Amino acid sequence: MGLPPPIKPFTGFLSSFKPENLQIMCIFREIVFYVLKPILIMGETMRQSLKIFTVFGIPIELHISFLFLMLIIYIIAFLNIIPGLNVLMAVLITLLFVTVVIHELGHSYVAQRYGVNIKSIVLLPIGGVSSMEEIPSDPGQEFRIAVAGPAVNFAIAAAGYAVVFALGSFMPKDVSSTIYYFSLLNLVLGAFNLLPAFPMDGGRVLRAYLAGKMSYVRATELAATVGKQLAIVMAIVGIFFNIFLILIGIFIYMGAEQEYRSILISTLLEGVLVQDIMTRKVKTLKPTDSIGETLDLMFQEKHMGYPVTDGKEILGIVTFHDISRIPENMKDSSVDSVMTKNLVLTRPGEQVFEALKKLNKHGIGRLPVVDNDELVGIISKTDVTRSLEILNLKLS
Ligand SMILES: [Zn+2]
Repeated sequence: MGLPPPIKPFTGFLSSFKPENLQIMCIFREIVFYVLKPILIMGETMRQSLKIFTVFGIPIELHISFLFLMLIIYIIAFLNIIPGLNVLMAVLITLLFVTVVIHELGHSYVAQRYGVNIKSIVLLPIGGVSSMEEIPSDPGQEFRIAVAGPAVNFAIAAAGYAVVFALGSFMPKDVSSTIYYFSLLNLVLGAFNLLPAFPMDGGRVLRAYLAGKMSYVRATELAATVGKQLAIVMAIVGIFFNIFLILIGIFIYMGAEQEYRSILISTLLEGVLVQDIMTRKVKTLKPTDSIGETLDLMFQEKHMGYPVTDGKEILGIVTFHDISRIPENMKDSSVDSVMTKNLVLTRPGEQVFEALKKLNKHGIGRLPVVDNDELVGIISKTDVTRSLEILNLKLS
């Protein structure tokens, strides 16, 4: 599709603004978003964000770091400290974030109609994050949710271009240029997100299409393979043309691999409960046991973590990590002084996949299994990994 001719003459930064720069901004957002995802999730749980308004019942929140960034950008713009970063540029950066929110709202609106609960959309310095429940693995629904984001961008782009064409000559140049570039921004963002590679929306679209013809795991595997091949091509092209493409290639490759692995794991673990794979005979510690004794025990049994109980009820958990930082002269202290008391627990009847999510989310190695306040077992990451290996063998 050909772009309408740019409106001339541009003023300020707009005259030096090229579509390539816009692409870089969008790509940059995707990359940084992917790298910083764990930090974002952390920031999200810290809840240091400010609700500004609600759309379709979804609260739109600004993270404190985002507010800080925008403040700095506007101060720099008003004081003219960095050449090129003027007020118009600041406005365009703001518009980029508006675009991101609208894109996320597109996904969220459709997801909501399929009964997916959406907690909020949080704006961070590197983009928007919608925190929603798991997206349905129904191909038709996933397709519509994935397409909704880019579709909204295309609709905005079309409307913006129409306004500029119809009314551009009646507007101040800066206004029409801003609308023009806002439209272009939406067009690029929409198209980029449709690349058929995870973690882009296009990867989901492709998987949904393939899932209509084969199993969900197989569809994910195939879509991930397409994504990886695209990533390799991008990286090779990048060697000759643009170093940015190499980076994008790497992140797309990783995203594809991660998506495939997580789908494979969730499929393999379907219907497997914690009680099926947990260790039942758990060696426990008393709160009065010494750190030195515990270290000896770990050395003998080669287990890296033990629950601490008062005989029945669990009080905490001691891991090698907790103990290894203790100076030599404190080895006689009791374990209750170093144990973790904020426990993440699981139940015998919980799905192993849910337990695995807890392990990953909290970055821990094991979960005590509790039934009616009583410790009945323990499940470790190693237990899950071994079960997965066996289940994978059974499958193939
Ligand atoms: Zn999207």
